[in-house]
Amino acid sequence: MSGAKRCPICRVPLEFSRENTWNSDGTITQTRNPDHRVIFYEAEGMKKLLSNLEALLGVPVDRIAIEGKRKSTYHYLEGMFSGPKLALIKAFLRRKVYETISARGAILGYGHFELVDVKAGKYIKVFGRNIYSLTLFSGDLAAVFNRVEGLPAELHLEEKDGGYLITVTPGPEVEEEIASRLERVVVPRKPGNISYRLCPNCRVPEEIAGFVWDMEAGTITDPSTGRHMAVLGAEGIDSVFRELEAELGEEIPRSIVEAQRQYAMETLHRREVERSPDYLTRQIALRGMGNLVHFNLTREGVRAEVENAVPPLLVAGMIQGIFDLVSGGASTCDFQRGSDGTLQVEIKAR
Ligand SMILES: [Zn+2]
Repeated sequence: MSGAKRCPICRVPLEFSRENTWNSDGTITQTRNPDHRVIFYEAEGMKKLLSNLEALLGVPVDRIAIEGKRKSTYHYLEGMFSGPKLALIKAFLRRKVYETISARGAILGYGHFELVDVKAGKYIKVFGRNIYSLTLFSGDLAAVFNRVEGLPAELHLEEKDGGYLITVTPGPEVEEEIASRLERVVVPRKPGNISYRLCPNCRVPEEIAGFVWDMEAGTITDPSTGRHMAVLGAEGIDSVFRELEAELGEEIPRSIVEAQRQYAMETLHRREVERSPDYLTRQIALRGMGNLVHFNLTREGVRAEVENAVPPLLVAGMIQGIFDLVSGGASTCDFQRGSDGTLQVEIKAR
């Protein structure tokens, strides 16, 4: 795994630069599958978001979040492995598939993984360190087991050697919903004019080329903040949010914005956010979260417009967090995402 091929010029693993495309409209898309958007996001971000949410609601959210992620990953895997390909995997390549998925994790910043053991139809055991989010990873692993073994999954996590040993075994009953499909809504993207200086060889933006891939640890570090980053599927996050809303009620989107505001307050530094709107536009675009086309900051509040905003709740919460950080006070947040994918955010000082 540590021998992954890197770009001779910028040292980014080639598989990473091949798979992800930064576009001028503030989005990052999978190169082979431009309908699939990803965000390049702080690995701690989802972890802290979920723990903030749990504290706000006073109920555990982990199981629900795992289920949301599982559904989305399962849906994605259905597209990748079906028919003869799936049959081939089941017959011969099972171990190889689990190993490939483990190795890919390091390139995307998910952590260091080892396939410890696998027995067809019985279990898989995976050891992981620096896991970007135990919750999201558990959802992923359950989905892989569902798809490859054709069985419902039960997870058992055990702390070990500075990481986790995760065992997946068949769940107690066949869940009907495994077969149910997720509704996928692809919102056409609005064009933008964000330009990046690209590596002449592998074509990642130079800001991204400055990040540090530790292939043994499975981490990607932003050298300007020291924070770990990971590539997250936008649909997976939406699916987690949908599941939370379906299970816990319609107030959940507000709570997610609040949890994200808290995360931004805890994590960002004033010096990061006090720069020009251009800087913010760039930071949001480099994360693939959209194109900040309008940002008006006054003492009274912020009015912002983000085209192609994904995930809208995180973008809104982040803008509110930025305002609170700069103003040093509290605020209210109104947001609305139009059917064209444009997010309007209005923050008012309280
Ligand atoms: Zn390069």
